[in-house]
Parts: sequence; C-alpha cells; structure tokens
Amino acid sequence: MMPYEAKNYDSLLGLQGFSDTLLKNHFTLYQGYVTNTNKLADALAAMVKDGKQATPEFAELKRRFGWEFNGMRLHELYFGNLVKGGKPVSAAVKKRIVKDFGSYEHWEKEMKAICTMRGIGWGVLYYDISTGRLFNTWINEHDVGHLTTCAPILVIDVFEHAYITDYGIKRVDYVEALWKVLNWDAAERLLKLVGGS
Ligand code: FE
Repeated sequence: MMPYEAKNYDSLLGLQGFSDTLLKNHFTLYQGYVTNTNKLADALAAMVKDGKQATPEFAELKRRFGWEFNGMRLHELYFGNLVKGGKPVSAAVKKRIVKDFGSYEHWEKEMKAICTMRGIGWGVLYYDISTGRLFNTWINEHDVGHLTTCAPILVIDVFEHAYITDYGIKRVDYVEALWKVLNWDAAERLLKLVGGS
C-alpha cells in the first residue's frame, strides 16, 4: 500500500492577512494528519494479518481512521482553496450558486454564519452528486456531519489554530480576511471534476 505524502503549500507563504508563523504551524499540523493516517492504515492492516481484527483495539483504531484521514483531506482542500490575492467567483459558479441558494448574497450570509458558529470544525460548500444540488454544511471536528454522496467544493477551517495566532478570538475578522484570499478557481475545478458544471 502506497503511503500518503504530505503536499507542500509553501507557495501560500506571504498570503495577505496571514502571518507565515500561523501558516507554517498550520502546515505542521496538517503533516501530522498525513503521518497518522499512514500509521493507522499500517497498524490496521497488521492487525488483520495477525488475526487481531475482532478486538476492541482494532475497532477503536478503525473509528479513529476517519478522523485522521478527514483531517488530512480537509486541510488539503482548505489550503487548495486559498491563493495570494484571491480568485473571485466566476460567472458560471455564481450562476450555480444563485440556482440553489436564490442569490450569491444568501449563500455568503449562510456560509459566513456557519464559519462563525461556536465550536471547532469546518464550513463546507458541498455538491450533492446524486441530485446536483449545492449545500452549505458544518463538519464537526473532522469526521462528524459529512453528507453522503456529496463532494466538497469549498472548505474553510474554523479550528482556533487557523486564526488565533493572528486574530486572537476574533473569528469574524479571520473570516473576512479569508474571504479576500479564497481561490474560487480551485472550487470551480472541483465542481467540474464531479460533474457539477
Ligand atoms: Fe486546521
């Protein structure tokens, strides 16, 4: 089994509104999820091989896997959704958003509300592959609240480590800064990839 490799996001250093200290710490946290995803995959495979698959230890590690894996993948989507200077939403994606949310402003109002909810987690714009509809949702921690058959299009980290170094507890200020560096080109690529445009 090929191990997962941590991607390099150093091109984000110098991102407007974000210190390099914050970004570097965040990259290190992300690398931890990649390391642990690989460790768990190896440990689980070894347990099955050794006949230990019917143990509480196997069950607990199996449950843990979704947390580590989604921690890895959500960070990759989040860093991919950021770019220096920001890339504005295209007319094609805006049209899709208007179709499902009534207006772009409605979408933005709801997504900003999700991103400033109390608690740690993620704001996610999802595309439902089975119906072609877009949804905004909240992912608790990394693994609770994913919508089945939906593909993440835009992913926003609202764990405290994503902003506290630069913004203290002012999450609203973080979200406003983030909005200026969102990479809607990446969101559009993801939407195309899953047949949403
Ligand atoms: Fe994070």
